[in-house]
Amino acid sequence: AVSRAEVAAAKLGGRPADHQRPHASHKGSRGDVAVIGGAPGMAGAARLAASAALHAGAGRVFVAPLDPAAPMQDDALPALMFRRPETIDCATSVVVCGCGGGMAVRAVLPRVLSSAHTLVLDADALNAVASDVSLQAQLRRRSGRGWRTVLTPHPLEAARLLGSDTTQVQADRIHAAQRLADGFGCSVVLKGSGSVIATPGETPYINLTGNARLATAGTGDVLAGMIGARLAAGQSTELAARDAVWHHGALADRWPPTSTLTADALARSALG
Ligand code: AMP
Ligand code: MG
Repeated sequence: AVSRAEVAAAKLGGRPADHQRPHASHKGSRGDVAVIGGAPGMAGAARLAASAALHAGAGRVFVAPLDPAAPMQDDALPALMFRRPETIDCATSVVVCGCGGGMAVRAVLPRVLSSAHTLVLDADALNAVASDVSLQAQLRRRSGRGWRTVLTPHPLEAARLLGSDTTQVQADRIHAAQRLADGFGCSVVLKGSGSVIATPGETPYINLTGNARLATAGTGDVLAGMIGARLAAGQSTELAARDAVWHHGALADRWPPTSTLTADALARSALG
């Protein structure tokens, strides 16, 4: 027999029930996401991650630009709230750090790694960790405190973290992702065609959605924001990463053939 819950899930498109928003939700129960990124010239990366988090259902989304001269509002997305990076409450928000972070992200990482209870590290935050053994030690200590971390490297970022090269990473993507996950005690999304999600003690997962239309600037930032929104809703690092990667790829697969897939449009369609 098919239960009522199963019928409801099928009607809503077959996604698991735990992705649906309870009717009594309010913005507090969906959680906060704070995006720290956007060094001079790269404000768009932080904005894309924030837009994706907002559209994917985060209760409140903060942006902390790493460019002190960046505007502290976004007329196209008035729900975003802007803060200075040093004022972000890392203990209560899910922190998404590194999108368009440039060199400036290095200054905030020690505080972020030692105070964010739930953290997504992307892009230049990963490059900073790769080049600094003390940041690596800080990252490793997080899992012992019960803090949750997702790393979202593309193959070059993964290679830097592993002290390897992209050819070696691509030759055995599952192994590379699992080594990073086990080495740092994190969930890891090794991006690219067939993204791999690895978590210590879990069977690695290969995502089957997505296509080369995603190979355009900013789509990785959108993914980081989508993962942040799921973590803010209380999902585990593994489920948040798998579900966001699946959904990000599915959006690209369903994209109308006659319209250009841009990261901005992708972020706006990132329904939670
Ligand atoms: P980034 O490398 O940070 O810009 O992120 C690019 C995003 O697009 C990641 O989520 C990749 O997995 C995805 N992507 C890029 N190229 C492809 C492809 N050929 N097939 C599927 N996904 C892709
Ligand atoms: Mg990227």
